[in-house]
Amino acid sequence: MATAFGSNYRNGAPRSSPRVVDSSGRPLSVNHNPKSSLKSKPSGIRKSSPASLGGGSAGAAKDDGGVPGRVRVAVRLRPRNAEELVEDADFGDCVELQPELKRLKLRKNNWDTDTYEFDEVFTDSASQKRVYEVVAKPVIESVLEGYNGTVMAYGQTGTGKTYTLGNLGEEDTAARGIMVRAMEDILADVSPESDSICVSYLQLYMETLQDLLDPSNNNISIVEDPKTGDVSVLGAISVEIRDQQSFLELLRLGEAHRFAANTKLNTESSRSHAILMAHVRRSIKDSVLSSVNGSNSHVSKALKPPIVRKGKLVVVDLAGSERIDKSGSEGHTLEEAKSINLSLSALGKCINALAENNSHVPVRDSKLTRLLRDSFGGTARTSLLITIGPSPRHRGETASTIMFGQRAMKVENMLKLKEEFDYKSLSRRLEIQLDKLIAENERQQKAFKDEIERISVEAQKRISEVETKYEDALEAERLKYQKDYMESIKKLEEQLVTNQQKLSNGKINTAANDTSSHINSREPAALASALEEVANLKKLLGREASLKKAAEEEINNLKSQLSQSKLLEASANSEILKLQKMLEDESRQKEKIEGDLAALQSQLLQLSFDADETRRNLDRGGGVNGPSGLESLISQAKNQQVNDPGNGEKASMAKLFEQVGLHKILSLLEAEDADIRIHAVKVVANLAAEEANQQKIVEAGGLKSLLILLRSSDDETVHRVAAGAIANLAMNETNQELIMVQGGIRLLSMTAANAKDPQTLRMIAGAIANLCGNDKLQTKLRGEGGIKALVGMVRCGHPDVLAQVARGIANFAKCESKASVQGMKKGRSLLIEDGALSWIVQNANNEATPIRRHIELALCHLAQHEANARDMIGGGALWELVRISRDCSRQDIRTLACQTISSSPTFQAELRRLRIEY
Ligand code: ADP
Ligand code: MG
Repeated sequence: MATAFGSNYRNGAPRSSPRVVDSSGRPLSVNHNPKSSLKSKPSGIRKSSPASLGGGSAGAAKDDGGVPGRVRVAVRLRPRNAEELVEDADFGDCVELQPELKRLKLRKNNWDTDTYEFDEVFTDSASQKRVYEVVAKPVIESVLEGYNGTVMAYGQTGTGKTYTLGNLGEEDTAARGIMVRAMEDILADVSPESDSICVSYLQLYMETLQDLLDPSNNNISIVEDPKTGDVSVLGAISVEIRDQQSFLELLRLGEAHRFAANTKLNTESSRSHAILMAHVRRSIKDSVLSSVNGSNSHVSKALKPPIVRKGKLVVVDLAGSERIDKSGSEGHTLEEAKSINLSLSALGKCINALAENNSHVPVRDSKLTRLLRDSFGGTARTSLLITIGPSPRHRGETASTIMFGQRAMKVENMLKLKEEFDYKSLSRRLEIQLDKLIAENERQQKAFKDEIERISVEAQKRISEVETKYEDALEAERLKYQKDYMESIKKLEEQLVTNQQKLSNGKINTAANDTSSHINSREPAALASALEEVANLKKLLGREASLKKAAEEEINNLKSQLSQSKLLEASANSEILKLQKMLEDESRQKEKIEGDLAALQSQLLQLSFDADETRRNLDRGGGVNGPSGLESLISQAKNQQVNDPGNGEKASMAKLFEQVGLHKILSLLEAEDADIRIHAVKVVANLAAEEANQQKIVEAGGLKSLLILLRSSDDETVHRVAAGAIANLAMNETNQELIMVQGGIRLLSMTAANAKDPQTLRMIAGAIANLCGNDKLQTKLRGEGGIKALVGMVRCGHPDVLAQVARGIANFAKCESKASVQGMKKGRSLLIEDGALSWIVQNANNEATPIRRHIELALCHLAQHEANARDMIGGGALWELVRISRDCSRQDIRTLACQTISSSPTFQAELRRLRIEY
């Protein structure tokens, strides 16, 4: 079955996949045989025409009219077969060949012969190869160039038509016939990428066209293109041939079907015509599209459709040319016999008509003549091989065959190139190209856009750069011109001044010389003044030169002085170093001496106490050794603080004071030894506790030393004792002022901030509380942070400290109320300003009597000043006042509270608002 060859075409539209496979299902590969180097046989001779069977290529015939091409006819004599060798042994051949003359002599009788010329004469020994090359090869070459071509065998049955055309050469490769060799050459020449070969194989018997590749299809019709005259067979399978193997299989299959079909029809294959049609479609390389990215010529080339050449090879193995016995001896009816012979006789008639140039050629009389319309009198290159046998018994048939060949030789064809534009392929290519271009265009557009964007960004950057540069340059230029302008103005002003001077000089001169001829004498006067000016300038120049010289001398002088002074400086420096060293030695010595002195003083102090003690003991009449020296003094000092000092002790202190000397004691406050410092400060504190000593201590610089100690010492004991001493000294109004002047508040505040010992805080609070009682120092005290320091100390919570704080606040409030009564104080209390009110309110009912009393007083004082009333109401102080006025155990304070509440309109209003009866 034809389907075994894979892709099949029924003339035109593909019926299934174009994939070609072999009988085993493998894809058929293209045969890459080396290209044949075979050459056409040179032309033979003939009376009627100089053209030869293997005549020149029709390649030049490209015009529509075509070129003349006569049907070439060769004759081949079959060798005697076995039968003939036996039976005709005594007879000579009926033909005599003169191949070198391309002549054939047909014996008429024993004495007469007819001679015929052919395009080629093949003897019985002619090889299949030579026959192919001479008869078929030129036709094959034409087909490959785009012409139609026909190779046909005509002759009596058994003379070798099938042998010549269809031998597959399976047993003997040299016996390969024209079909096999033709396909070999075609396959070798075509390009598998661009060209195609499609083959159909048909049989014509009794005017029925049957597909040998699909024998069930015996209804194939012949279609002629009215324009081109091309003939095609509708419905026939067309197999694409890719290699020789597949072609051989096709031939085998066709032969097998032919044999089977003939057996079925009860006929011989010799009664049927076998027609092999091969369509060779080739693309012309020159018009292959090149890249469209080139020049215009490329583009125009691209738009030119590719050219395809479609050559068609028809190989016809005709039925036997012998006449059919019309008597029906072969089992055919008369009608059958007519039908069997119809095509062949029609062919003969057509050839006769063509040979005689008849106006009517009965092409349409048979299917064979319709099929071969192009082969005889058409546009195809046609080769006809007539085959004859040697046997004299078939002389008649041989003669008629020869006559058929002779007539055919007269048929002229007009060879035409079957070339056309392949618009479909062009359209496909253009579509692909268009798609490529669209994609490329899109890419380019994107790239272009990106580039534009990049350039615009760059441009913006450049513009801003240039603008900046330009602005800078403009500014520089502006400044330059401004400067130049100013300079020019200055010059002009100078010039103006000079001119004015000149003018005034001129005027004076003119006035002096000649007042009457003012105008006339102006020029000489100007000249004179100019000359004078020149002289002046010269003088000035001379003076300048001498000044310059003098200055230079001065410079030189100074330079030498400088170098001298440098020398002096160097020596002075070394002197200074020496002196510094000496000074350091001296200070070291001094320190040592001071240390010694301090030790001696301490010893002396101790000795004085010892002596005093001894004397006291002696005075008392006791000889007991008591505590001696400084310890004794300190213990006394302690006792004094705790107990009420007795007169005797006071007296002894006074004596000690006299014996040791205040200055010595105070100097010990600055002693290096910490212990000495502590002892000394304790002594001073004890002394300060006595009012009589206070004045002397202050005069001797003791207050100052105590303040310095607060600042310089890290020792809290020193702080406590010194603060205590200061607190004692602060009882005196003059000392209070001194403490303030010497920055005492700040030092006390600082010490308070760092102190941890409640006793230290008690001393400090006491000192500040004393200062709070001074009318004159109110503002300063507050200004230096005294109130804040006081309020800050409540953090410690110790009742002793709180009592001192409360005392201070009460003192301060008292002074303020006094001042406000006197009209000296305006605005609200500084205590309220510095945030003391909330603590006051919180502690107004404190358990500790000293605290409570002071706060009650403070509240009463604050309430006396109307400016405080709002804050006091807001802070809850009014309630405390009301409570004090009712609950206070002291009558005088209750009365005071009542008075203040009653006298304040603000308090009254508030109480009314709250509907409290008072
Ligand atoms: P036809 O097809 O014309 O009826 P065939 O080709 O079948 O004749 O040939 C008949 C017989 O003659 C075959 O057996 C064939 O092998 C043989 N024969 C024909 N021509 C030659 C030849 N040139 N050389 C040898 N044998 C030939
Ligand atoms: Mg045959």
